[in-house]
Amino acid sequence: MAKEDYYELLGVEKSATAEEMKKAYRKKAVQFHPDKNPGNKEAEEMFKKVSHAYEVLSDADKRAAYDRYGSAAFDGSAGAPRGPGGGGGGGFHDPFDIFREVFGQQGGGGGGGGIFEEMFGGGGGGRDGGRDGADLRYDLEITLEEAARGIEKEISFRKNMACERCDGSGAEPGSRRVTCPTCRGAGQIRRSGGIITFTQTCPTCAGAGTKVEKPCTACRGDGRVAKSTKLNVRIPAGVDTGSRLRSTGNGEAGMAGGSAGDLYIVLSVKEHELFERQGEDLFCEIPIKFTLATLGGPIEVPTLFGKGSLKIPAGTQSGTTFRLREKGMPSLRGGKQGDQLVRVQVEVPQTLSGEQRKILEEFARVSGDAAEPTSKSFFEKAKKFF
Ligand SMILES: [Zn+2]
Ligand SMILES: [Zn+2]
Repeated sequence: MAKEDYYELLGVEKSATAEEMKKAYRKKAVQFHPDKNPGNKEAEEMFKKVSHAYEVLSDADKRAAYDRYGSAAFDGSAGAPRGPGGGGGGGFHDPFDIFREVFGQQGGGGGGGGIFEEMFGGGGGGRDGGRDGADLRYDLEITLEEAARGIEKEISFRKNMACERCDGSGAEPGSRRVTCPTCRGAGQIRRSGGIITFTQTCPTCAGAGTKVEKPCTACRGDGRVAKSTKLNVRIPAGVDTGSRLRSTGNGEAGMAGGSAGDLYIVLSVKEHELFERQGEDLFCEIPIKFTLATLGGPIEVPTLFGKGSLKIPAGTQSGTTFRLREKGMPSLRGGKQGDQLVRVQVEVPQTLSGEQRKILEEFARVSGDAAEPTSKSFFEKAKKFF
């Protein structure tokens, strides 16, 4: 199942205040409330989704986690992730651990295969006993033109990168690694919870079994430092709001030999002043003169790919929709390009010069009582009321 954007579900901007969010939520809750939609499964589903979205976004901590990691942070059973450092062992400030707690059970489950399953599937400890770096989420807004043609963008963001002073080891240059005193090198500790005893990754060494003798002064033994970084991202033509791109290995650096996380770029496409996207088709409305609608003739039509042209047939009614083949959005999956739909609005002049008025009055006189088919059938029906 697709993961929906919580802000979209509520119909608010990403920058919405708590008050705006509450208002939007109330409106949606009323709209989809089961009492108002008896037996409507879809409404019930929406009601649940909207409630869940609001539950997350109305809590400042959860909202921050969502902004950073997406809805994956709240799927599954365990509810909201615990805040950094909130775990029992003490002192973990690596968000990856939050994920492991929440997603531990479903990692590698091979179920739905959504992108976020993928995100955590390979989780667990790093290959060499270190910890893998966290996956990151970057929200990128692009224009409809950019989405139509595809584009390369440079993005910059802060992330934990391997410390240069200690080369990511966390040990002050010249100092050694020593056996971890907490787990005596095992990498795991046993804990007793009432009658159950279970093993847990050692919180001191994160499972490595060793610990630095003297922590690096630049990163305080973390092996990583937060730094700004830049990345060129290729955005393929045809993406839409909610499309996610994965950049393997461009998330946070791992610790003590763990592999780097991935970067997920979540796209949103800005509203366009002329075109409205409907799947792969683009829709626009164009005003035409009433003389053109009556007599017919060619018009120029803007498209995302330059000027297009359309032949308006004589006698075109306001609201008629024309189709420009393959001037819509490209298909992300290599299918057929969408079309551009053009609805014409026939414009009635609001001011007339003396000459125009004379000609039109003459036109009215010549037309007499003769009515066009649409008005004819209307007046037939209306007769019953008079
Ligand atoms: Zn360092
Ligand atoms: Zn240890």
